Amino acid sequence: MNAPFSGPGGPGLPQERRVVTEIPGPASRELLGRRQRSVARGVSHVLPVFITAAGGGVLVDADGNSLIDFGSGIAVVSAGNAAPRVVERVSEQVARFTHTCFMVTPYEEYVEVCEELARRTPGGYEKRSALLNSGAEAVENAVKIARHATGRQAVVAFDHAYHGRTNLTMALTAKNMPYKQGFGPFAGEIYRAPMAYPLRWPGGPEACRAQALEVVTGLIHTQVGEENVAAVIIEPIQGEGGFIVPPPGFLAGLAEFCRAHGIVLIADEIQTGFCRTGDWFACEHEGVVPDLITTAKGIADGLPLAAVTGRAELMDSVHVGGLGGTFGGNPVACAAALGAIETMVAEDLAGRARHIGDVMLPRLNKLAQATPCIGDVRGRGAMIAVELVKPGGIEPDQAAAAVVARACHEAGLVVLTCGTFGNVLRFLPPLVIGDALLEEGLSILEDAFGALLGTAGSTW
Ligand SMILES: *Cc1c(COP(=O)(O)O)cnc(C)c1O
Repeated sequence: MNAPFSGPGGPGLPQERRVVTEIPGPASRELLGRRQRSVARGVSHVLPVFITAAGGGVLVDADGNSLIDFGSGIAVVSAGNAAPRVVERVSEQVARFTHTCFMVTPYEEYVEVCEELARRTPGGYEKRSALLNSGAEAVENAVKIARHATGRQAVVAFDHAYHGRTNLTMALTAKNMPYKQGFGPFAGEIYRAPMAYPLRWPGGPEACRAQALEVVTGLIHTQVGEENVAAVIIEPIQGEGGFIVPPPGFLAGLAEFCRAHGIVLIADEIQTGFCRTGDWFACEHEGVVPDLITTAKGIADGLPLAAVTGRAELMDSVHVGGLGGTFGGNPVACAAALGAIETMVAEDLAGRARHIGDVMLPRLNKLAQATPCIGDVRGRGAMIAVELVKPGGIEPDQAAAAVVARACHEAGLVVLTCGTFGNVLRFLPPLVIGDALLEEGLSILEDAFGALLGTAGSTW
């Protein structure tokens, strides 16, 4: 079938997997040619199918294939693509006015988003927020605010961290290829600490639990000096770095250390936030309260919006005019955020995320028992991953991850990889995905591993 799908998107799309051409099909291949002649090569893609509609748990492509979505556009469309409350609010807003610049003449929608952020983020203290366009921009602003408020310069980030691709955030991001290679020089006064990564901690998970906090705080003391540190920035569950979940107590201990030394703790919840991990924010799981929190991805169902939220005295230490930007907190993006948040509340999407984890983890753990190349199954809520290794040890197996991902793609399941070593398959379904699609997606994944092991019909 070559006719492009032309129906509406949103949850009205048939919630079914339907593979009617090879992946990518002829219409997508033709668009790929145009893309290659017009779009910069540096902007990559995971799989070259061109999407014409999406909703619920599916993406429909230009050839009429309907793919199961385990990616959510990288943890963005948590409330579902083209979610009805988002469509309604955005349509109403875009027809009323599209931009004034909040710094020229303000509007209520921006304020409302900041009120929601104060309500939903952890911490019972008085809060303020600033709205920006992208996650990287939110991280840049959090660092600016922490430096300004403390009068200190050093920022501590972690191994495997991902904080963005702008100059300052490249310096905070750990992985060289593809994010940093050839793009230096990078911003100064960034220090890197080892991450509490149970699978790869020297001595293993138990040693990690016992030692990680002491190693990190010891390095900060001896190599930076607490009194020089403006901020420690950490993803409560690391995203691009491999869905790394630190052992219980690590984040709380880090928060206590920061508090004792007047260091601003920045929780980068750009990937973990907005119900993804089964709480509104991943910090809540252990009752950790950061001083500043950065959000983006899941906040506005795909419209470009990001925020820094934090203690009023830190946020308001910045002089009038010190923060902002032309597009930051655009009214249409704010309307989308309000629709997304309304959906999360009305449909208890945090509860849905926990349910998704409850469906996925037992099946993945069972799969891991039968699959020697699965070295770890981890994550929380609807942020779940498997890490692939050479059987018998923990040597990363990036090639196996690529083979399994490709088999999934060809069968009509969108999965993403991640990790410093590129050997982690990550699953980030929209929180509104139905159970039938979720189970079918897991079956496709199991088949892909079966083929890898040669226990099912191999197609490569
Ligand atoms: C995606 C991401 C960023 C960068 O966000 P952009 O909107 O791509 O700039 C920063 N931090 C984390 C944890 C992320 O997952």
